[in-house]
Amino acid sequence: MGEKQWYKKNLEELMNELNVQTKIGLDSEEVLKRRNEYGDNSIKTAGKKSVVLMFFNQFKDFMVIILILASLISGFLGEISDTIIILLVVLLNAILGVIQENKAEKSLEALKNLSTPNAKVIREGNILEIKSIDVVPGDVVIIEAGDFVPADGVIIESASLMIEESALTGESVPVEKNTNTLEGDNIPLGDRKNFAYTSSLVTNGRGKFIATGTGMNTEIGKIAQMIQSQEDTKTPLQVKLDELGKLLGIGAIVVCGIIFFIGFLQNRPVLDMFMTSVSLAVAAIPEGLPAIVTIVLSIGVQNMIDNNAIIRKLPAVETLGTASVICSDKTGTLTQNKMTVTKLYTYDKLIDIDQANMENPTELTAIMTGLLCNDASLDSDKGEKKAIGDPTEVALIVAAERFGLLRKQQESYYERVGELPFDSERKLMTTINTFNNGYRVFTKGALDVLIGRCNKIMIGKDEVELTEDIIEKIKGTNEELSSKALRVLALAYKDIPSIPDNLNSETLEKDLVFVGMQGMIDPPREEAKLAVQKSKEAGIRPIMITGDHKITAMAIAKELGILEEGQEAIEGIALEKLTDEELYNSIEKYSVYARVSPEHKVRIVEGWQKKGKIVAMTGDGVNDAPALKRADIGCAMGITGTDVSKEAADMVLTDDNFATIVAAVEEGRTIFDNIKKSIHFLLSCNIGEVVALFISIVLKLPIPLLPIHILWINLITDSLPALALGVDPAEKDIMKRKPRNPKKSIFSDGLGLMLAVEGTIIGILTLAAFNIGSNESLTIGRTMAFTTLSLSQLVHTFNTRSIDKSIFKIGFTTNKKLLGAILISLLLMLGIIFIPALREIFKLGFLSPLQWGIVLGLSLIILVAVELIKALTNLTKNQKELA
Ligand code: ATP
Repeated sequence: MGEKQWYKKNLEELMNELNVQTKIGLDSEEVLKRRNEYGDNSIKTAGKKSVVLMFFNQFKDFMVIILILASLISGFLGEISDTIIILLVVLLNAILGVIQENKAEKSLEALKNLSTPNAKVIREGNILEIKSIDVVPGDVVIIEAGDFVPADGVIIESASLMIEESALTGESVPVEKNTNTLEGDNIPLGDRKNFAYTSSLVTNGRGKFIATGTGMNTEIGKIAQMIQSQEDTKTPLQVKLDELGKLLGIGAIVVCGIIFFIGFLQNRPVLDMFMTSVSLAVAAIPEGLPAIVTIVLSIGVQNMIDNNAIIRKLPAVETLGTASVICSDKTGTLTQNKMTVTKLYTYDKLIDIDQANMENPTELTAIMTGLLCNDASLDSDKGEKKAIGDPTEVALIVAAERFGLLRKQQESYYERVGELPFDSERKLMTTINTFNNGYRVFTKGALDVLIGRCNKIMIGKDEVELTEDIIEKIKGTNEELSSKALRVLALAYKDIPSIPDNLNSETLEKDLVFVGMQGMIDPPREEAKLAVQKSKEAGIRPIMITGDHKITAMAIAKELGILEEGQEAIEGIALEKLTDEELYNSIEKYSVYARVSPEHKVRIVEGWQKKGKIVAMTGDGVNDAPALKRADIGCAMGITGTDVSKEAADMVLTDDNFATIVAAVEEGRTIFDNIKKSIHFLLSCNIGEVVALFISIVLKLPIPLLPIHILWINLITDSLPALALGVDPAEKDIMKRKPRNPKKSIFSDGLGLMLAVEGTIIGILTLAAFNIGSNESLTIGRTMAFTTLSLSQLVHTFNTRSIDKSIFKIGFTTNKKLLGAILISLLLMLGIIFIPALREIFKLGFLSPLQWGIVLGLSLIILVAVELIKALTNLTKNQKELA
């Protein structure tokens, strides 16, 4: 269908050719038919990495290349069993790598699908929200500011509609769209003012179009190959670990050089020296680490999805754990966004909504203004009421329905002929409807803005001059309602004989007649209260940001525990007056920002960032994108959020809930903690191996461990426990600690020192076992070294579950996966010792019960030693705190 010049067709031709009525839309049978005919409304992007490619990529690794080289050399020298083992381990490692990468890729793919946008369409006479992927040609699509256009189509309704289509035309300024049918052939894309293109962005107003092309049959589909695919991003920690890996690689080469040199001085055979160097290189590099980090991250991302947080950018997983300020919108995030009108005010009379009387002209006008100046819908779908749109507006419709005033019906009497959509900057919305023989402008919005646009007030059925006294009275009532945490919408109108040429705030939203106010409650979310408490304990400052009235905001913030004694609320206007320096000096004082516009949010984020804080910021509107991008963790709303805000965000909250952010922070902290545990485990074991080899060379001892032994331990027996540490349950005090400083190295806070000490102990234990066994034979010595090294590492996993807490406090059985991993690793180790053929290949011997006893005793020493170190450090720490 993309070939036709649709922009030349008028409404009638469009309806005929696409076989659709714009008021009713398609029916479900027709939709199904077209869905089958035209397929998914999605752009097929370039293919993914194939499994084969992934497999070969595993061999690019520096370490793997060295190993293959080593296996070739040993084969050449007649050590065929070594060659086979090394190649087997390399192969196994590559297969594991592919499985892991594949899993990580799949979960990332799932992420992309989760965050695909929705579209609003008219089908069978109702407005429905569907996945964009389900839009078909002929659908009548509704778009408004903040939406991505879900299909190509001809515009049939436009209210200040502006679309930014730079992806297609390169023109970054949004284009005003209208419904004028174009003439002439081959009009350039940028000049088709009555046409909307898939994946361009609505920046202003609202409108409707008939979809003429979907999926690959769209302008953007035609150039799909040109759209760049998203780069894979790495988290800061992954980048640092890559660097560390490179450093260790270089370190290994240097150490190999030293060993060669010492060996040369000691007159050792060259082959021995070569194999020892390979052993050392294998010992020094934590081969499994990058894969384990990726897996732990992707498991964490999956957990977050299960808990309603979709991570759009992987680095956010890590940043979340460092968050120290959470700036949250009020409506819907801290509150339930279940607005219910409870109060109605008309001049000098504040009543409960159920006492309103539609015989009273002012009360009727107040209710009708709320109903007609409204874009929400409340349709009955199979007997059930289904609300679509802004909850504030839904509340106004529900209030009117109490009195039998239905929106569709009233709009058929008073047809809408023009409008100025709501925007959070102006805080007003206006419609023009036919009324008697002329037109009536209906405006609703924030009282502080609206009252300035009125010069009369409706009292009874009369319009009276609006005096300062009356204004003061109205403002008093507004404050009274706000202090009870009610959101207040003020209502006004004016009659005009004809529609002005230019529809803008200047022409419509002035000289209005004030009618009254509706007050609605929006109760705080219960779970938000707990989450606020939790975040404060975790050293994270919660901040409320809202477009609502200051007094309403303060009342709710107090109830939630966000606004405490000594803290203040500030309004957007006052914030504007502060210089950057003044804001810097006072920012810690403010817990509530009221009546803010989206651009204020950027200042708030930057203000806190200057204080060195890591800021999470929520946002939903089209104008929130800059703040979301600027924040360290931009959180968009999954339900109420616009497509633009989701695109700009690092994380999308599928339940729009503040508590979800706090839960995600907890998960972020846990993930980082667990990656640290894996690193702790793997590096301390590597250091143990290096220490054992290095000392034996310096002391002119025979080599205690062969390359295949170290390879086996590092690549096979260690990887499962390291992975199990990556999914360790969170430590109990994880949300009682202060946020981690992202600038600090992970090896500070004692981890680096601990690693070195533990590694040295493991190395010495291994050498001790080797020495004892060597009295009998070199093979028994190596077997005892191999078993002691393997076992002590498995025992050591318990030590690494906490840097400072005793494993007896944490409990040996609290990570069942770790127990399973240890068991499997143990069986693997016993397998190569007790199966004669394997024993042969690995050049191991058979140990006596006494020797096994010694191995076991030595292996347990690492547990006792680390427990002692932990007890001692805790003791000194406590004494320091007391002093
Ligand atoms: P947040 O989501 O940031 O907590 P909010 O939803 O209260 O804030 P906005 O949606 O920007 O903030 O609303 C600001 C003010 O604009 C409200 O206090 C209300 O007076 C007015 N307002 C809100 N929605 C509408 C609407 N649909 N039509 C007219 N005025 C509105």
